[in-house]
Amino acid sequence: MFTIANGIILKGQDLVPSRENIVVDEGKIIEIGKESREGKIIDVEGAVVCPSFVNGHVHIGDSIIKDEGYGLSLSEMVRPPNGVKHVALANATDDELTQVMKESMWDMVNSGTTHFIDYREGGIKGVKLLKEASKDIPIKPIILGRDDSFYGDDPNLGKVKVAIKKLLKVADGIAPSGFGEITEEVAELIVSECSKQGKISSIHVAESESNQIESLNEFGKTEIEKGVKNGFDQLVHLTNPKSNDLDLVSKSSSNVVVCPRANATLNVGVCRLNDMLDLGIRPLLGTDNVMLNSPNMIRELEFTLKLMSVYYKSYIAPKQLLQMATTNVCRFDVNNIIQKSLINEGNFAEFVIFKSFSKNPYLNICNRCETKNILYIINKKCNV
Ligand SMILES: [Zn+2]
Repeated sequence: MFTIANGIILKGQDLVPSRENIVVDEGKIIEIGKESREGKIIDVEGAVVCPSFVNGHVHIGDSIIKDEGYGLSLSEMVRPPNGVKHVALANATDDELTQVMKESMWDMVNSGTTHFIDYREGGIKGVKLLKEASKDIPIKPIILGRDDSFYGDDPNLGKVKVAIKKLLKVADGIAPSGFGEITEEVAELIVSECSKQGKISSIHVAESESNQIESLNEFGKTEIEKGVKNGFDQLVHLTNPKSNDLDLVSKSSSNVVVCPRANATLNVGVCRLNDMLDLGIRPLLGTDNVMLNSPNMIRELEFTLKLMSVYYKSYIAPKQLLQMATTNVCRFDVNNIIQKSLINEGNFAEFVIFKSFSKNPYLNICNRCETKNILYIINKKCNV
C-alpha cells in the first residue's frame, strides 16, 4: 500500500484538477482525499497526476523500418500488399519483429502509455506474435487483426468469414487497411461478426484526398460515408472530409481516432480537430505507424496543440486535447475491451505523475513536459 501525497490530481472523465492524496493498494485506488494517508508516503508536492495515456492507433510491427521510405506517397508507403511496409514485414523474421515490437512497447511505457490499440498485420500469427512480445511488459495491447483473404475484387466470402471468426478467437477486433482494398461485402462481414462477438471493428478512412476521390468515383460515396453506413466502431484519420462527412460522423455511434503527426509526415493534410470538437465528436489521439513516428503521446500532444493554432488561427482547448489521449476512450469502451481506468476511487491505478512547471495542469503536460519529466508511472502491471 502507498499514498501519492500532495499532487494535483486530474480526476474522472473530465480531468477535474484537485489537490488531494491518492491511496493505492494492490493496484487499485482505494481512497482519494485531502487527509488520506496509508502505507508508504510518496510526497510529489504540486506534481500533476494524470491518467496514463491510451495510444488510439499504432502499427507496432513496422518499427522494423523506422524512417524508411521517407518522402514517398501514402500508398507507396503503406498500401497492401506492395507498400514499403508490407514488403519489409514479409521479409522480417519473427525474432526480428518481436525484438523491435518490444523496444517500441518500452518506448511507450517510458513515455506514459499503458494502453495502445494496434492495427496488426500478418493474420493470426501477427496477433499472436504481439501478444507474446507484450507478455512481460507493463502495457496492455488491444490488438485488431486482418487477413490476406480480405483483399481483392472478388474475394471468397466463405473464406473471409472463416478467417474473421478465427482471428476473433485471438484478437480484440478486426481492422482492414481501407475501403480501397476490400469490397462492400467484406466490410459488412467484418462489422457484423465483430458486433456479434462484442469486439471492435475499425478501418482507415479519408486519410488522403485521393482516397476520397477514388471512393466517390467508384461508389458515389466518400470513405467516411461508407465507414459510418457500414457501422464500423472506430474510424481512423478523417483527414480529408467532404462537406457533410463530419456532421454524419457526429450523428453516428462511430468513434474517431486522429493521427496528426503521421498525417504531416505523409503530407496528406491536417485533421479538422476543432470542427470535430464543435460538432461534439470526442476523438482519440494516435501516433500511427512506428515507421513514421515515435509512439510517444507527449510529442503527439504538443505537435497537435501547436498545429491546430496554426491551422485554425485559434486555439484548441488544452483539456479537450489531453482527454483525447487519456479519458475519451472510456466513453466508447462499452464492451470493456480496452479497460482503461479513470482516476476515481475503486478503479485500477493507472496514472502518470508529471513534474510541475506551470499553474495550468493541462498545458503543463501538453506544452511543457517531456518524457524525462515523468516522476512515476503507476500501472496495475507495475508498482512504485
Ligand atoms: Zn494506420
